[in-house]
Amino acid sequence: MVIKSSVLQLEPYISGIQPKRDPGVIKLNSNENPYPPTPMIQQWLQSFAMQELRYYPDATSTELRRAIGKVYGIDPSQVFCGNGSDEVLSVLFNICFDAGDTIVTPYPTYTLYKTLADIHQLHCVYVDTDEQFEISIENMLKPASQGIFIANPNAQTGRLLELAQIEQLLQQYEGVVVIDEAYIDFAGPHASALSLLEKYPNLVVIRTFSKSYSLCGARVGYCFASADFVAAMDKCKDSYNLNVISQNMARLAVEDQDYFMANVARVNQTREKLSEALVRLDYEVFPSNGNFLLCRPRRHQAKEIYDYLLQHHIYIRYFPSPRLSDKLRISIGTDDEIAVLLERLNDYEHTVIAIDE
Ligand SMILES: *Cc1c(COP(=O)(O)O)cnc(C)c1O
Repeated sequence: MVIKSSVLQLEPYISGIQPKRDPGVIKLNSNENPYPPTPMIQQWLQSFAMQELRYYPDATSTELRRAIGKVYGIDPSQVFCGNGSDEVLSVLFNICFDAGDTIVTPYPTYTLYKTLADIHQLHCVYVDTDEQFEISIENMLKPASQGIFIANPNAQTGRLLELAQIEQLLQQYEGVVVIDEAYIDFAGPHASALSLLEKYPNLVVIRTFSKSYSLCGARVGYCFASADFVAAMDKCKDSYNLNVISQNMARLAVEDQDYFMANVARVNQTREKLSEALVRLDYEVFPSNGNFLLCRPRRHQAKEIYDYLLQHHIYIRYFPSPRLSDKLRISIGTDDEIAVLLERLNDYEHTVIAIDE
């Protein structure tokens, strides 16, 4: 057999369904942003010279790193850019771990950490969160490990770990601490671990343009780390990991802070409205700092609601995994999309009651 047994044994990643773009479809299953990216991108694309595609792109995304560094007040030598934060994670695994090492991550969380650990033949220890999905730093430190991975806010749950707790972790741990801030922009201005970078060289803060900057399709992620760490990542990435169009789209997006912050504010407002409406429908709603809500319908089976919405072309997310199989994850759409969703959820109550009678 030409394929390694560790690869044959991998569980494939199951992404949200990607339905056709049809006006009748409401897609709330992949935490995509409901609003388009900055109009500067459209303008730039219209003036883009096809001739440029003959050339290789800038191998180190120099302009993009500079733009990110400027906005966030970090030297560009401490910024690494990748083909989505998924690639950033993949390169990080290349430079940090040897086969047999152990990484620790909470449960539940983003499943890619475990997948990458499996590919690299590492042990991945899941540390259970509490009833309310809160992460315990003390428990995360118990297993001996070389790396700790925390999505903050956490994937699936939206729970935010406070900065003081992240610092407490850094004070007691010598391995690499990876804080995946894919959703941090929805969590307010003081939630990021970026301010700890100076003090803790073993900290890596990962970000993405996918969610808050509305650029899932462009595949641009990045991380902040020590200059040595970034130099090591540069040695192990694909030579031309970011194409010329994506480099420019991401640069324009980060340079238009006003536009992006207005979208984030709109999404957060809709999230609060949806949360209140779900509570009125007798759902348990977990407090979220991301652009999605995790909730548990008290009166019905989560999977049945998921299937019902699917029939009506509304796509949300159902995870048949421990602790999540009685819950639903809903990405925040526009106000109009959420209004339609709520109408359907209301209809469902009546349908089920009619059947019961
Ligand atoms: C969506 C997501 C990512 C992936 O982001 P890309 O930049 O699109 O690869 C990474 N981490 C978490 C926690 C996410 O939710």
